[in-house]
Amino acid sequence: MGLDKLLRYNREWAERMTLEKPEIFRSHAKGQRPKYLWIGCADSRVSPYESTGLKIGEIFVHRNIANLVPENDNNSQSVLQFAIEDLKVSHIIVCGHYGCGGVLTAYQGSAKEPVTSWVSGIKTVIDRHQKELALMKTTIEKLNLITKLNVIQQVNNISQNKFFLNSEHKITIDGWVYDLKTGRIGDLEVTKQTGLD
Ligand SMILES: [Zn+2]
Repeated sequence: MGLDKLLRYNREWAERMTLEKPEIFRSHAKGQRPKYLWIGCADSRVSPYESTGLKIGEIFVHRNIANLVPENDNNSQSVLQFAIEDLKVSHIIVCGHYGCGGVLTAYQGSAKEPVTSWVSGIKTVIDRHQKELALMKTTIEKLNLITKLNVIQQVNNISQNKFFLNSEHKITIDGWVYDLKTGRIGDLEVTKQTGLD
């Protein structure tokens, strides 16, 4: 047991894929041309592939706790640079999700490091929207609003990013939220795009 099941599945999957599309792995070995960059939470319940129907090779994926793109984070900044300058993706999707542990940590406060520092940007979002949050009756409503505001903040962060602003091709950034209870993705309709066509 243990990991054997995973490796057995992998062998069967690779064989099946090769039968269905004999060129697939040869083509992958030559390079990638995904149109989409997905920036999502690391949460195990959110699958960028399964929830959108996109296939292997079609999305460049970056995931971390609470789908953050802080300016001082070399990891996500490198992803943006590579996806924009080299892969020339045409769509960047920031997808948060309700029931996010990272959002909850920022809301409740915690002494755990480094996660508390990691989500400190969400704390700033919370502080900035105290008035709107005060109108929410329940904690769940507050957390859901913070989840949306956090996604919007990340979309805004990317729209100010130098790689995005200097892009020589057209790129859109969209903010989405995935609902764990229904599997549905909601579009926050906060699309930003570079001015170039
Ligand atoms: Zn999450």
